[in-house]
Amino acid sequence: MSTTTPLLLLLIEDELPIRRFLRTSLAGEGYRLVEADTGQLAVRLAVQQPPDLVILDLGLPDVDGQDILRQLREWLHAPIIILSARDQEQQKVTALDSGADDYLTKPFSTGELLARIRVALRHVARASGDRESSVFVLSDLKVDLAARRVFVQDAEIHLTPLEYKLLTTLVRHAGKVLTHRFLLKEVWGPHQVQETHYLRVFMAGLRRKIEDDPAQPRYLLTEQGVGYRLAAD
Ligand code: CA
Repeated sequence: MSTTTPLLLLLIEDELPIRRFLRTSLAGEGYRLVEADTGQLAVRLAVQQPPDLVILDLGLPDVDGQDILRQLREWLHAPIIILSARDQEQQKVTALDSGADDYLTKPFSTGELLARIRVALRHVARASGDRESSVFVLSDLKVDLAARRVFVQDAEIHLTPLEYKLLTTLVRHAGKVLTHRFLLKEVWGPHQVQETHYLRVFMAGLRRKIEDDPAQPRYLLTEQGVGYRLAAD
């Protein structure tokens, strides 16, 4: 990513008040913004000028947002953040499994959206060659990936191999929501993707070892009905 050219964001949203509100805040952060109020226009604009990041509302007037997501994902590698209505867990899961990078539930604050945009763009920067540090630090949690050691407030925590694998999968995608299906596939393999109770059990174990208060986690956050997210800094 160049530091001189502002990043181009494509906002696909039919609700004018939301576009207006995002237009001001995104411009204020130095992003360039292209807007589409229909799915068809969005695909055309994305082809003309491939964006660095897409914000996609799932409820569009002409085409199902999920179709737009799949069409874009066939060729566009830029992060895609989904906007969805409340109580649409299945929609979010479908979108994430189809290659969306994150989602926000309406109504959301500008601060939340900007944080998600930063996380998504940071992952792109890392994937495109920035050397990832072998030590991950988040508040009192420290994961030394090279030495395979985990510390909380400088005290070493002993994890089972599967707990360690689950934690490091979250660390590699810090700040990003990961679906149950994705985590099960990464940690247990492709044949266990239905076994969400494995995940619940191991997540509970990991929280007991890492969190001050496992019932009020600071690091290992639950995304209700969707999956888990490691908090971002
Ligand atoms: Ca809409």
